Formats: sequence, C-alpha cells, structure tokens
Amino acid sequence: MKNIPRIYIEDNIKPGITIPLTRETLHYLTRVMRTRNCLVFGGGNEYSATVSDDDKNLIIGEKTSHIDPSNNITLMFAPIKHTDDLINMATQMGVARILPVITARTVAHHINWGRMQKIATEAAEQSNRNSVPEILEPVKFSELDLSDVVFADERVAYGADASTDFNTDKILIGPEGGFSDTEFEMLDAAHARGVSLGKTILRAETAAIVALAKILK
Ligand code: SAM
Repeated sequence: MKNIPRIYIEDNIKPGITIPLTRETLHYLTRVMRTRNCLVFGGGNEYSATVSDDDKNLIIGEKTSHIDPSNNITLMFAPIKHTDDLINMATQMGVARILPVITARTVAHHINWGRMQKIATEAAEQSNRNSVPEILEPVKFSELDLSDVVFADERVAYGADASTDFNTDKILIGPEGGFSDTEFEMLDAAHARGVSLGKTILRAETAAIVALAKILK
C-alpha cells in the first residue's frame, strides 16, 4: 500500500458513504499524485476510497487492517515562536492531544489555531496515523491539574536532581524563559515529577521531542 495518498477526512467515516471532494484534494489526487484511489482516515480507522466518475465525491470503500499507531500522550507546552515545528514533530510522534498552557513567561499568546490544525492534519497524513491529534483550548498554568503531571525540569542543567523515569502519558514542557519560581513551587507542592533531559538547556521544541522520544522508547 506504499505511495497511496492518505487523506484525513473526518472522524465519522463509514464504508459506502460519499464525501464531497474539495477542489484542492481533487487537484492533489488526480494532478499531483495522478491517481483516483487513496486511503482516508479519521477517528482511529483507515478506509480505501475512490474519486467518483464526475470528480465531485470520494466514495469510501472498505476499512483497511491498518491499526492506528498513535499513542495516548498529552503534550502540554507553553506556546513558543516555533509552535509550528513543535506541533508538526509531536504529531509525527503520535501524540493524542496537544494542550497549550499559558505560563508566567509565555511570550507567544497569539496562536493561529486554524494553521496549527492544518499542520497537524498534514503531519498525520504523512506519518501513517489514523487520527489527527486534538488541539485543545489553551489553559492557564494556575488552572492546570498538576497532580499527575510529569514536567521537563530545566533545574537539572544547574545541578539539581531530577527523575529519569519517563513513564507517563502527560508531559509538560516549559516556555523559552523557563518556569517561574512560583510555578516550580506549585509543581513541587503538587508532587509533579520533574524529569531530566540532560545537562544542557534545550529549546522548548527540542525538549518536547526529546521527552517524547524518551517516553516512547
Ligand atoms: N530559560 C530557561 C533557563 O535558562 O533555565 C530554560 C528554558 S528551556 C529553553 C524551555 C523548557 O525546556 C524548560 O522550561 C524545560 O521544560 C525544558 N528543558 C530544557 N532543557 C531541559 C533539561 N536539560 N532538562 C529538562 N528540561 C529541559
């Protein structure tokens, strides 16, 4: 099934239904990929599909045997300049949910969510997932339930001890300026587990990917 285009449609797909084709998708399939057959996915499942004779619809065929390789990790991060890269890479690594957290030192408060959704969808299409990660509404750090959160703790780069146990499905990455003293106090008071990503300070998007790689290893 290699090289068959994969397209995210929506989460409620069923065999036999027809889905109106956008001009962009029709162009991609028939002009760029030069095919009338593709795979469509959503909601954890994948189906074969064919462009209708009048070019107006995709006719959904049988469900394939491809099992969704996505995981159940929620990536919590403070929006950064390179949020696009972070969402692209985290989607490729299979995360289920992306939760922006507004911390004291968050600088990028404005995020183009339509663009983030597009980036996540394109990354899901090319990474063989059967789902697109859910991009949740931002929450304030003070409103986050910290009880079972594991966070990337940059204090290790200044000599503090931190865990190397990456067994979690909820990871929190700090902003470019790092967590504030008050936020560290709140994390420590909630017994959130700080984890080490090594002795150097990583950029937030690098930290997110290194942390995911350690969780998934
Ligand atoms: N400005 C902060 C400082 O100098 O201490 C560094 C912030 S760092 C650019 C962004 C985030 O990545 C941190 O808040 C932390 O969550 C994570 N991070 C970076 N390096 C890390 C390390 N060595 N271990 C654990 N987490 C790290």
